[in-house]
Amino acid sequence: MPLAKIEQRRATDEVLQALRDAILTRVFSPGQRLNVEDLAANLGVSFTPVRQALQLLAAEGLIVIQPRSGTYVATLSPRDVEETFDIRRALECLAAETAVTNATEEDITVARSILERLAKPVESEADRALHETANRELHHMIIRLSANRRLAEMYDSLHAHLTIARLHRVGESWQSRLDLEHAEHEQIVDAFCRRDARALQSALRKHITRAKQELVNELVP
Ligand SMILES: [Zn+2]
Repeated sequence: MPLAKIEQRRATDEVLQALRDAILTRVFSPGQRLNVEDLAANLGVSFTPVRQALQLLAAEGLIVIQPRSGTYVATLSPRDVEETFDIRRALECLAAETAVTNATEEDITVARSILERLAKPVESEADRALHETANRELHHMIIRLSANRRLAEMYDSLHAHLTIARLHRVGESWQSRLDLEHAEHEQIVDAFCRRDARALQSALRKHITRAKQELVNELVP
């Protein structure tokens, strides 16, 4: 019956959100074993939405399902971060080549407005969420404007934003680097608006390399 399916989907979405938040806020720690029965009892739902949500979290790289062994919160090593960000950098620099010619005047206006949003002070958890959304929009825009579907799929499969979210919860030092980050975003938007592919690539390379190093440092005790 179609209504039952909608209910089921809604339950899966809600379980997914609750479990993702629990991982990102470290209610569940990296390496922790997750039990379907316990999760279902805690969330007051049946096993099915929990199992479906776990499959989706595995695709996002937040959990690892080991057949016959169990389900665990994915651990995050410096190497995981390095690999993810090296590929991210390569894909964004590749996207930059065609994004500057594919961009319309409207896209350029949008990029400028994203930069304005990124300049707003970050003083609360809500500000932080808005900042991260604007940051994601800027990078996604370059990827989208590459007009290369395979490139966009590879980029999405990295789930780099989840890696960032997991690590930003650990350290508070990122706040002090906001000025530096803003200067980098200004260079990115400036090169994009001038449709200068080389300058855009060099600004992206600098920004992503710095971000990678920062996240790796959060993981090295
Ligand atoms: Zn950025």
